[in-house]
Amino acid sequence: MKPGSSHQGAGAFVSGVTLPSNTSEGWIKARTRLWEVAVTNAFGVHALVWTGGWEPEQAEFAISRTAAAGYDLIEIPALDPSAIDVDDTRARLEVHGLAATMTLGLTFATDINSEDAALVAAGRDTLTSALQVARGVGATHLGGVIFSAMDKYPGPGTAAARANSVAVIKELAQESARSGITITLEFVNRYESNLLNTVQQTLDYMDDVDEDNVVVHADVYHMNIEERGFRTPLLLAGDRLGYVHIGESNRGYLGQGTIDFEEVFGALADMNYQGPITFESFSSAVVDQHLSNTLAVWRNLWEDSMDLGTHAREFMASGMENARATAGSR
Ligand code: MN
Repeated sequence: MKPGSSHQGAGAFVSGVTLPSNTSEGWIKARTRLWEVAVTNAFGVHALVWTGGWEPEQAEFAISRTAAAGYDLIEIPALDPSAIDVDDTRARLEVHGLAATMTLGLTFATDINSEDAALVAAGRDTLTSALQVARGVGATHLGGVIFSAMDKYPGPGTAAARANSVAVIKELAQESARSGITITLEFVNRYESNLLNTVQQTLDYMDDVDEDNVVVHADVYHMNIEERGFRTPLLLAGDRLGYVHIGESNRGYLGQGTIDFEEVFGALADMNYQGPITFESFSSAVVDQHLSNTLAVWRNLWEDSMDLGTHAREFMASGMENARATAGSR
């Protein structure tokens, strides 16, 4: 299933089929149940689970492993958009039947959350390049820490810097809408941005951007640091939530840290979240020259990408399935 596919409802499935005359109520219920299980979320994995670069052989490895592990989409980091061979990537995605999303973080040299017009212009250029690449590979979403530098700021932000960020993101959203690309704003912890650290700040910022194709991008690793829990802020985002990162508190194997995934999946099921759910994990075993140091990936949390990736796929799918089966009971 592609991200963005909508749940048509069990009724549409049953009413669209000519049922044999001996069809039992149990058969209908079983088929309805299959439909509901089949049409849930698209599950994705960040490419850094597999590879730290995007040379053609690295792209092939990441895309083929993502498909082999049962995922619907791969999230491709585009911190340096020019490093991505658009035609090559698009062709490999098609061969393996995968959808793609694209994320990046800006730097202090390309910071649109700044009062310095030159830095804002540089950030705008980076985002424009990223959008061209996203469009070229057929990505459905473009996002990440695109509203500010992804780095530890030396102080709090200013209203003027924020206004510059809002203006650039508004323009990016309008350009993206022409290609049907959704813009995701990934609010992150205080050590990685001084602008958006919580759902509420992201909603306020989105009000100022005021474009329909901009969504909240929630990452439970960051929420674990900044929010008072998971359920309340996720429900606060409501239907403006459009992208979810699932990661453990230590960025390693799901279930081997302190994130309350029952609460996370329970909230997503209760709000009938239907967007992509993407797994992020980082280890010193796989290093991206742009990303790993920024994210402070110093330790080896795993070696075997395939074991990690298949485990995470099952963890997320069964977590969501169980939560959907008990929706409304929390
Ligand atoms: Mn994330």
